[in-house]
Amino acid sequence: MKNIAVFCGSSEGNDEKIINESYALGKTFAEKNITLVYGAAKIGIMGKVAQGVIDNNGETIGVIPHFLKTKEIVHTELTELIVTDNMHDRKVIMYDKSDGFIIIPGGFGTMDEFFEITTWGQLGLHTKPIGILNTNGYYDALIMQCKMMVSRGFLKQENLDAVVVDTTIDGLLEKMNNYKPLPAPQWLNKERL
Ligand code: AMP
Repeated sequence: MKNIAVFCGSSEGNDEKIINESYALGKTFAEKNITLVYGAAKIGIMGKVAQGVIDNNGETIGVIPHFLKTKEIVHTELTELIVTDNMHDRKVIMYDKSDGFIIIPGGFGTMDEFFEITTWGQLGLHTKPIGILNTNGYYDALIMQCKMMVSRGFLKQENLDAVVVDTTIDGLLEKMNNYKPLPAPQWLNKERL
């Protein structure tokens, strides 16, 4: 994986371990020559990951819609900044530019991005690995909810298995590197979507 998108909070949260791990994720990207693709902000957990990359001479691609440029405060030290017309274009560019996706702690925006990218994978619109970095149990409840959706018959086990989870950065990257995508669903005709 050359480029990885990280979906995460525009807030910083209140857990020192999560803040430190987010910075460490950015540092690891720089050390492994992985380019960070993210929402371009300087604030919150987004800013921590980016700073981890930048302080260690790594590469960053920030993608932000025009209307959010002041609200989320664009990081000024990015390798590349892409400004889009709207949220939808932002997401499509982030998805296209990335070879994999990592979810670290965040709120509604992060969940929206997580569920959209998992849904697109389930539809066979991409075959890229999706990983949850479950620092300090932040996503224990989300994982339980997903397992419940499987047991209640609303989510296929194979679609849940397509999301890899680990509590460590190295463990997660290894699982993502070894990820074998499911074949695209037989019924899918991409031309019609
Ligand atoms: P949050 O996890 O809510 O702090 O948001 C993290 C990122 O998701 C930020 O870059 C937001 O711009 C983005 N975001 C926030 N709300 C939405 C939404 N409704 N749809 C898509 N992205 C969002």
